[in-house]
Amino acid sequence: MNLSETPADPLAAYRIAEQPYYRPSAREVALYEHAWRHRLPLLLKGPTGCGKTRFVEYMAWKLGRPLVTLACNEDMTAADLVGRYLLDTDGTRWHDGPLTLAVRHGAICYLDEVVEARQDTTVVIHPLTDARRMLPLDKKGELVHAHPDFQLIVSYNPGYQSSAKDLKPSTRQRFAALAFDYPPQEVETEIVAHEASITTELAARLVRLARRTRELRQQGLDEGVSTRMLIYAGQLMRDGVDPRDSCDMTMTQALTDDHDLAGALRALVDASF
Ligand code: ADP
Repeated sequence: MNLSETPADPLAAYRIAEQPYYRPSAREVALYEHAWRHRLPLLLKGPTGCGKTRFVEYMAWKLGRPLVTLACNEDMTAADLVGRYLLDTDGTRWHDGPLTLAVRHGAICYLDEVVEARQDTTVVIHPLTDARRMLPLDKKGELVHAHPDFQLIVSYNPGYQSSAKDLKPSTRQRFAALAFDYPPQEVETEIVAHEASITTELAARLVRLARRTRELRQQGLDEGVSTRMLIYAGQLMRDGVDPRDSCDMTMTQALTDDHDLAGALRALVDASF
């Protein structure tokens, strides 16, 4: 092997140098640390944009571990995760995929929205989630035993409630789970004010609006306004964009194509600004 081609730290690109801003909502930090101590595979469930990814970034930084994040989608293949042979000047050479890098060298691997991946892709994680903690690279004929610091975290949004997009019980029962939701009102206000650099008063008004939209979930809206959307709206308002235009762009149009639901959302915006 040509050692000069082996990077000193294959996970250098995945290290988090600066402390990510994370405002805890409950006991999630302590609970996660217990799960980490045992390297339990972890499932984070909760609506989109409520802080799951930021939490994982913060925990990886706190524990001093590199973080390999992969947003799952239906075009993703097992090779995209584990790696493949690629042609280079010397012929074909094996390239570890991001999951293999994490398993081999000891990173936290975060598979965001894991239900978006096809079943034949998700099965590759099964042997990593039980006592074996290993990853078979079938094409290469290698069995990679996980580094002691490897941990697998997956996220999923139970709100979509489509059976095609549900996590299979055979996958799901392999994980310890932490439930996330939008943060409590005061905490969410603090987060929105911080992230959008707006006043607490404006952030509080946005958060009150979001909480009303979340009540529309029983009336046909798949999801209410997320913390992320509030931050986008706040950023536009800080730039001087009219509050109604800001909310229309970042909330109403983003959430629904349905005329009646859009009307209901606009009425809530009008009552708030
Ligand atoms: P998810 O992964 O659940 O879809 P994110 O973690 O990407 O959501 O959260 C969306 C945005 O909301 C983040 O980029 C961050 O700005 C903000 N955010 C949400 N929750 C928190 C929190 N508890 N502390 C700090 N920022 C948060």
